[in-house]
Amino acid sequence: MLRVVADLARNIAQLVYPNECLICDAREGEAGTFRHGLCTDCHRAVTTDPFPVCPWCAQTVGPHTDTANGCGECRGVSLGFERAFRLGPYEGKLRDAVLRTKVLAGEGLADLLGRTFVERRGTDLASASVDLVCPIPLHWWRKWTRGYNQAEAVARELAVGLRAPFDPRLLVRTRHVTQHVQASRTARLANMKGAFRVRAGARLLGQTVLLVDDVMTTGSTASEAARTLRTAGADRVVIGVLARR
Ligand SMILES: [Zn+2]
Ligand SMILES: [Zn+2]
Repeated sequence: MLRVVADLARNIAQLVYPNECLICDAREGEAGTFRHGLCTDCHRAVTTDPFPVCPWCAQTVGPHTDTANGCGECRGVSLGFERAFRLGPYEGKLRDAVLRTKVLAGEGLADLLGRTFVERRGTDLASASVDLVCPIPLHWWRKWTRGYNQAEAVARELAVGLRAPFDPRLLVRTRHVTQHVQASRTARLANMKGAFRVRAGARLLGQTVLLVDDVMTTGSTASEAARTLRTAGADRVVIGVLARR
């Protein structure tokens, strides 16, 4: 709670002192020229993915890993989605940025990260021939207490950048699920079962959906959401996440 108050205070200060970096609070001038509200260091950090990445699950892999059939994490596993794209790994400045988007008034930063994502990975994302973009929804209570869904803000920017329709209400979260990262994959998937439904009247037959979240950890949430969309008729589901843990 104290953290939320501190973040809110900082976000309000941001309105009063707009020349502070949205991620690290460095002052413009002292920290070089800013780009899109970010200091040089933070801008470079969130626009550069320093690691080789599994093309299927977006996990960081070793420099010489053969990922033709997946990586150590996803090989032989039914993901529920076709493949995943990320802006970067969940660490350092990108992690700081994602954490900051989780508070009310972090929305400007979530928009910015969404635009950065589509700037950096637009060609890859476009190669998936997306028909429709939607976020992984928050449970209504979470959204109400947070004030907005950061995944929705990112998804909106991706839709704009890809010139694809945006449907923020396509998926509905039927219950809040507490994820246990330590649990086995089977247990995590069972835990997520039925956590989503598709909005009544949605026309998904033959569609390719880009499903967007801020962070992907185990992939169980994305898998269940993707399965829900495919059960409702979607042909393919690809995932876009700001950061992969
Ligand atoms: Zn900065
Ligand atoms: Zn993988």
